[in-house]
Amino acid sequence: MGLLSLGTPLHWNDSKKYADHVRSNGVIQLLNSYKISQGRENDKFYWGDEIEYMMISLDEASRSLKLSIDHDYVLTNLSEDGKNYQAALDNDVLFHPEYGRFMLEATPLNPYDGTSLGDYFKVENNMHRRRFLAIKEIQSENVYPLTLTAFPLMGVDDFCSPSTLPKGCASKSLFLPDEIINKHVRFPTLTANIRRRRGQKVAINIPLYKDKNTRSLDAADPSIPKRELFPYSDNEPHLSAVNPAAKPGHIYMDSMGFGMGSSCLQVTMQAKNLSEARYLFDSLVNIAPLMLAVTAAAPIFRGHLADQDVRWNVISGAVDDRTPFERNEAPLENHPLYGGQTDVEVQKSMLRIPKSRYDSIDQYLGGTEFYKSSYNDLNAPINKKVYDKLLESGLDEELSRHFGHLFIRDPLVLFSERIEQDNETEMDHFENIQSTNWQTLRFKVPSQDSVPNSNKPGWRIELRPMEISLTDFENAAYSVFSVLLSRAYIHYRFNNYLNISLVEDNMKRAHHRDAINREKFYVRTNIEDSGDAYVQELTLDEIFNGSEKRKFKGLIPIVKDFVAVEFGHDANPDDLEKLDMYLELISGRASGATPTTATYFRKLISEHPDYKYDSIVPESAAFDLCLFAKKLSEYNPTTVRQFFGDKIGNWLIAHGYSSIFAKLD
Ligand code: ADP
Ligand code: MG
Ligand code: MG
Ligand code: MG
Repeated sequence: MGLLSLGTPLHWNDSKKYADHVRSNGVIQLLNSYKISQGRENDKFYWGDEIEYMMISLDEASRSLKLSIDHDYVLTNLSEDGKNYQAALDNDVLFHPEYGRFMLEATPLNPYDGTSLGDYFKVENNMHRRRFLAIKEIQSENVYPLTLTAFPLMGVDDFCSPSTLPKGCASKSLFLPDEIINKHVRFPTLTANIRRRRGQKVAINIPLYKDKNTRSLDAADPSIPKRELFPYSDNEPHLSAVNPAAKPGHIYMDSMGFGMGSSCLQVTMQAKNLSEARYLFDSLVNIAPLMLAVTAAAPIFRGHLADQDVRWNVISGAVDDRTPFERNEAPLENHPLYGGQTDVEVQKSMLRIPKSRYDSIDQYLGGTEFYKSSYNDLNAPINKKVYDKLLESGLDEELSRHFGHLFIRDPLVLFSERIEQDNETEMDHFENIQSTNWQTLRFKVPSQDSVPNSNKPGWRIELRPMEISLTDFENAAYSVFSVLLSRAYIHYRFNNYLNISLVEDNMKRAHHRDAINREKFYVRTNIEDSGDAYVQELTLDEIFNGSEKRKFKGLIPIVKDFVAVEFGHDANPDDLEKLDMYLELISGRASGATPTTATYFRKLISEHPDYKYDSIVPESAAFDLCLFAKKLSEYNPTTVRQFFGDKIGNWLIAHGYSSIFAKLD
């Protein structure tokens, strides 16, 4: 879990004075952990998932839909020291806080054993128990924990329950009240410090979907209010007619909550040693955009249909703390060019920063027999001081570059009580930088107590791009698939390298509306070959299901082969049947036979009787969409058939899913 220290958080103006202190001590902490974990050679393949929920108030009698922001007790009761913590432990689950006050995160209590096939079928049941515990704990009528990637009415009028106006000084947002932010001081401080470092509010502009009655894309957006609440503040519209930060033809959003208030699915896997972790990381670099595309679930932002299907770049924009100078724009008057970076030599090594701290991976970790430095063909600036220190301490070029790149960022939240740390036993300064570099993959390092043969976590890779799906059946399917695929890569030792600039392109394509049917993605098709990459552009159908013409076996057939080789002899037939259903779902999504959640939602809105073909999602349609999501999450038979089609729908119904929560009671 990320860092949640308690204490007095520093305002950006104070915290930036310690930025170099945090970096230089963070590097020592990293090196200490690197040294102590040398010799960890045979760690078990453990893995675990993370699910994020939104508490949504859905009143069928009045047909009202709100984001529920007054249920802090759910997390209090289910977390450590809470009165129902034992219930969580008894169910093998853990609840964690997230950015939104309306959010819950839950994970298994202990990671799963990825070497035993049986454990791949505990996941879904564990997810069901998490959801069930959350439902029970909420205990207010009409409030449900839904796994929606983005709340469709986020920032639209009076969207919170209880009713709350946007006038908060942490975000200064025109749309989102600060009351939606988790009350732990870390979160409002993070929100405010990003804005302060940047020197302006964040500005997210997502292309608006153009329908037949959509307002002219050149016209100002009438749904952006005019306000003069923080007159000294940044890019507020003041009394001018047009908000200068809002791009024409786009859905404008101005607050961290639009991004960090969305939900996703993550999986973390432990490799047997550092070398295998590097191999796995590099193998997944180009899997990440594909998993984003195939899980697409977010076509609506701030009550508008977007001309894209996923959340990713909304979050990138929502936490983009780069100054205008770093973004290669005209600097602001009297605003430091480099935030808290004051070392002139280091400034020279960074120059401009092409991407937000929430973005796709910029470089491979290397250290494998297949790696060539030419594959790292993106401009990924590094903190030269950190890079030199790591190199001279014995890390190789690519590892030093990886961390040198993470360390171009400033720490965003610092607690005055935690400035001085014992670098032999603590990792907070390292984690401060590490855990606010939100990339498609995270290379998780062991802590300093992770001596060889201890049961402390070793080298882990976290896969972070996936959108959350509405049902635990789907979330389990994507988790199990990505972990088995990872194991297959380790087993067959495929070579998945291609120029990382092509992966960058894939990431952009993965955002596109209906990418399944309208896009192709770069893949290396000669994965069994140690030579140069043979790169072709394939559809997601060809990539997941395979293509003889392209001489690409396909990710799903690879997983099937691996399962047969690894577990074939002693697999339980019921387990294999479930795995088939998981793969059937992903195969159908990739081929377009089963619509993605995003496509399904788009259709629900476009066909809604109240929709006026103007790209604006009526409240009544958003209500119906969320009601659908709720029914689906409970596996209501009609809804299940509508959403998944007959084959998967009938299988779910025949296997008792519609009464799964009653059985847990
Ligand atoms: P974060 O939010 O930092 O990613 P979480 O604690 O929320 O961390 O989730 C981490 C996931 O990693 C959980 O699913 C957990 O079960 C899993 N996990 C914990 N220990 C290990 C381990 N040694 N190897 C692999 N996965 C692990
Ligand atoms: Mg987590
Ligand atoms: Mg989370
Ligand atoms: Mg995580």
